[in-house]
Amino acid sequence: MISEPDFEEISLFDLSDEKDPPEAIKENTKTEIPAKEEIKPQEIALTAENLWQDKYWEFDITNPTQTIRDSIKATMIEEGFTKREVNHIFKGLFFKEKIFNTKSQAMEYLKTLPTTYAVKYKIGIPPSPKMLTLQKRCQVQEEKWTNFLQEQEKRWAGDFITCATCHSRINTHYITPPVCPVCKQDLRPQTVLKKLQSLQKALYDVQKKYEQTSRKYNAQFTGGEKWIIRTINSYKKS
Ligand SMILES: [Zn+2]
Repeated sequence: MISEPDFEEISLFDLSDEKDPPEAIKENTKTEIPAKEEIKPQEIALTAENLWQDKYWEFDITNPTQTIRDSIKATMIEEGFTKREVNHIFKGLFFKEKIFNTKSQAMEYLKTLPTTYAVKYKIGIPPSPKMLTLQKRCQVQEEKWTNFLQEQEKRWAGDFITCATCHSRINTHYITPPVCPVCKQDLRPQTVLKKLQSLQKALYDVQKKYEQTSRKYNAQFTGGEKWIIRTINSYKKS
């Protein structure tokens, strides 16, 4: 006969489920309830499926590529990947002697590749006066953007909100902002949406200008380089 390791547990469970336990036992189970509630819900296991989709790593070029590999692998295992998964993710890793003028440009390139890959980008070039001016403008626009977003957060803080489109009075506790559950439109007024759009565009434009200027400027110089590696988690469930 096959031994049944869970037999004792099952029988105990069955017993506790039996009807009409004596009063004393009833009280006993009552006091146990809060203890049960203290048990934390099972945490979601950190496996490759629910870890990051892709990740960028940067290393000084004085590091041998093997050191870089080992370092990333060790971190990934700490993060929850198995050795086998890490090795699979690293299979296509290639250290390409390709130097980009900016980090954004390097990232843009890496994003077009389907496998884990490494390239270099230029560092240590003092920015030109034009770049500094654009940097300031980026900061200003960023601040405007985040301030406006923060200000808008208050909109959802109350118990009720009136939809700007269909004018329904909505309980904020049962909605997923910014969608109106009645008309499925944005609950926010057109003026706010327009302002969001214009701030977003202004920020995007100045960031793009800064990036273009940097690429052009850095193309003429070199102050050193850095490795940038993009690892792609092919186990990620989308
Ligand atoms: Zn509505």
